[in-house]
Amino acid sequence: MQMTSLELLERLVAFPTVSDATNVDLVAFVSDYLKSHGVPFEVVPQADGRNFNIFATVGPNVPGGVMLSGHVDVVPVAGQPWTTDPFKLINKGDGRVYGRGSCDMKGFDACVLAAIPAMLKAGLKRPVHICLSADEEIRMDGARAIIEKFDKGWTKPSMCIVGEPSRMKVVTGHKGYWRIDTHVRGHEVHSSNRYVGVSAVFVAAKLISWIEQRDLKNKADAEAYGGVPHFDPGWTMLHVGQMHGGTAHNITALDAHFVTGIRTVPGDDGGKYVREYEHYIRTEIEPAMKAVHPDAGVTIQYRVGGPALGQEPDGEAERVARRLTGDNAIHVVAYGAEAGLFQEAGISTIICGPGDIAQAHQPDEWIELSELDKCDAFLAGLIKECAA
Ligand SMILES: [Zn+2]
Repeated sequence: MQMTSLELLERLVAFPTVSDATNVDLVAFVSDYLKSHGVPFEVVPQADGRNFNIFATVGPNVPGGVMLSGHVDVVPVAGQPWTTDPFKLINKGDGRVYGRGSCDMKGFDACVLAAIPAMLKAGLKRPVHICLSADEEIRMDGARAIIEKFDKGWTKPSMCIVGEPSRMKVVTGHKGYWRIDTHVRGHEVHSSNRYVGVSAVFVAAKLISWIEQRDLKNKADAEAYGGVPHFDPGWTMLHVGQMHGGTAHNITALDAHFVTGIRTVPGDDGGKYVREYEHYIRTEIEPAMKAVHPDAGVTIQYRVGGPALGQEPDGEAERVARRLTGDNAIHVVAYGAEAGLFQEAGISTIICGPGDIAQAHQPDEWIELSELDKCDAFLAGLIKECAA
């Protein structure tokens, strides 16, 4: 199976691998493709049993070398005004191809797979690992499943290039992401009698206000003492994007629920905010609730989306990518990615991939053919490096 990047992209886009659907068909296709080239690989299942990650190695299976990392899941298309079939790659002849995932990030995946024959021919002295992960868009558990394998003795690459859309610029930083789900349990009484009840809505309002104040404190500190360079904004942001609670205007609300997102800058730990928040709840909020009714209280659940990616002092991945692209400017991105997880696992990591993030997740998502060409050229250079 000798296929171009564009032909492979056409095949990959045709699998509707929305994060919570199954990706078995795509994985079967890629497995056949790898087998046809005699490339050894492993399929690593996700906990959900419906999604799978692929880890393939071209060249000698020795420590060092590079990992090319791309996710194969895509965001949903439901409710978006697509003018073409999202799961059919459309070439309108305008220098772009359209389809869900064309930019984020099956374009990179396709370029990597298309480069396999060249990798095999080059006589690699250092391995090129190909890591195609599931579930990047929601939990990033695909990357975690692969990292667990490194911990259990898989040969670990020394550097990683995550091909998220960056217009083939060398991106050395992204923010991290944590999410907190807060559930406030009140005590329901008629509002005419509200002092013997606990309003979950009133409590939620206080907590949300605390979160906003914590966010504004970070902003004020950064404005006074300087934020993290290159990031805009250069501080960790806290935000509540969703809430609901209560059942009627004249009942103290029994339940309220809201969701907080925390976008951390490199060097800042999302867990710090969770601890401060929990401390505030347990010492200042909950005792007063429980004094009115013992069943009232607050529960929180948090999820680490992923740590931030920071610039490494003399990072190998950055050095190599700068040499190959000629890009010497500093770029950071506002979106979260798997790169922070791989860096945290001790692998020198940057982001460099085709397409512009502005097209990601959009209806009529597209990528320029010239971006795929640039990525092909980048990979050809990388292969040369690994064969030298
Ligand atoms: Zn992505």
